[in-house]
Amino acid sequence: MDKSKQTLVMKFGGTSVGSSQAMAQAAQIVKDARAEWGRVVVVTSAISGATNSLLESASHAARGDLQPLLDAEKSLLKRHEEISAELVSDPALRARVNQEMAGLIGTFGNLCRAISVLGEATPRAMDAVASLGERLSVRLLAAACQSLGVASQVVESTELVITNNAFMNAHPDFGTTTFATRNRLNPLFEAGIVPIVTGFIGATPEGVITTLGRGGSDYSAAILGAVLPADDVWIWTDVDGVMTADPRMVKNARTLPEISYAEIAELAYYGAKVLHPKTVRPVIEAGIGLRICNTFNPSHPGTRLVANLSAGIPANGEKVIKAVTTIRKQRLVTVEGRGMLGVPGVAARTFAAVASTGTSVPLITQASSEQSICFAVPSESADDVLNALSKVFAIELADNDIDRVWATEDVSIITVVGQGTRNTPGVAGQIFSKLGDIDVNMLAIAHGSSDVSISMVVESVHDANAVRALHELIVK
Ligand code: ADP
Ligand code: ASP
Ligand code: MG
Repeated sequence: MDKSKQTLVMKFGGTSVGSSQAMAQAAQIVKDARAEWGRVVVVTSAISGATNSLLESASHAARGDLQPLLDAEKSLLKRHEEISAELVSDPALRARVNQEMAGLIGTFGNLCRAISVLGEATPRAMDAVASLGERLSVRLLAAACQSLGVASQVVESTELVITNNAFMNAHPDFGTTTFATRNRLNPLFEAGIVPIVTGFIGATPEGVITTLGRGGSDYSAAILGAVLPADDVWIWTDVDGVMTADPRMVKNARTLPEISYAEIAELAYYGAKVLHPKTVRPVIEAGIGLRICNTFNPSHPGTRLVANLSAGIPANGEKVIKAVTTIRKQRLVTVEGRGMLGVPGVAARTFAAVASTGTSVPLITQASSEQSICFAVPSESADDVLNALSKVFAIELADNDIDRVWATEDVSIITVVGQGTRNTPGVAGQIFSKLGDIDVNMLAIAHGSSDVSISMVVESVHDANAVRALHELIVK
């Protein structure tokens, strides 16, 4: 296909814009892409660490402690100004960018001081604070691209991505987002301008800033890719693509040249930070390409997402398993009692109670006799969930139809991913004997609803060893 007629969305993660060297590399990648592709849209994250530091300052401010804010204001201004000094050659442009960045850091101070006066950081206020990271970085990246001679312009995604008001985890409305995005970006494309867009952020129809959830810039890229529609979405990060395991945990993890939609969806959902779990659906539905590649090694092909694996599903137990991942800081909640057998709707009431706390459940197991229901929740939500369950089942607990509702200490969910994992004979056996070999006990097991994954819950002290042992089934 002739790329000069095609549209490419490229997203740069926090590390990819986190220093002047990294951002210079990102800007060069934009320039190279623009030379080939007819339309290029760039989505950027905040510089690495910025979102954490913004949110921590706001949380401390709510408790009356403004010191983290004072430190963050200084260090954020310093880091951003260092990058502009290195990458923005034109003094007038640099002065303008620095002034805009100082204005945003001023807003940060005002918001945190207001939060400290109120003594409360509402989700809406947290989003106003969190959005500042991308609003800062987008200005730098646009100026860096302009300094390389790329015609580019800052676009705030509040003008493009229209969401509901579920602050900190907002959901886009694809209809209005399509209309707003095309209206805003098409004239720029016609003028040959590369829009440089804030990731992570949206706005309600009334214009109030929302965010799409932590790590949500990947999702922003997928949303824009789907609504334009683009031909390809490339996620630029700090590793050579999707790997057989988190390279920080497993030293000999390898890059997977291709991965199916179902596999990446499972990996992302079960903790592989390399891609935000919500990224996959819009690109599948729009039928567009997705590639994950390394800003620091741009000639590496990275990982391609494919609808169906070109080699097909392996016929034997060999090489079915492609990757292993873990989610930490979970607790297993159990509702148990022999009297449950006769109580109608226990499962429905259990999960309604969990939902009432706003908690999502990554894993569920239920004994076939229905004498217990067991599921994982993030540790931070476990107490709320236990309280909600004790209330909902107060009568059954008093009557001893339900003996107890309890939660384990912190556990980790380990998930083995690969097309054929569930239905290929022998694969589950290999997994269980690997864990047996290193004396790791499985507290719960769940098969994915597709044929793509098996998840096991282990005590958190064993998680890294379990991941490394299971990885030996992929790379010896
Ligand atoms: P970005 O800021 O570019 O979005 P993230 O830190 O969110 O980057 O995601 C990239 C990181 O994801 C990698 O540095 C790596 O440590 C981690 N990671 C976890 N699991 C995997 C995996 N299976 N493959 C690749 N990276 C992984
Ligand atoms: N900056 C946001 C975060 O740290 C979004 C992202 O990086 O994708 O969560
Ligand atoms: Mg990320």
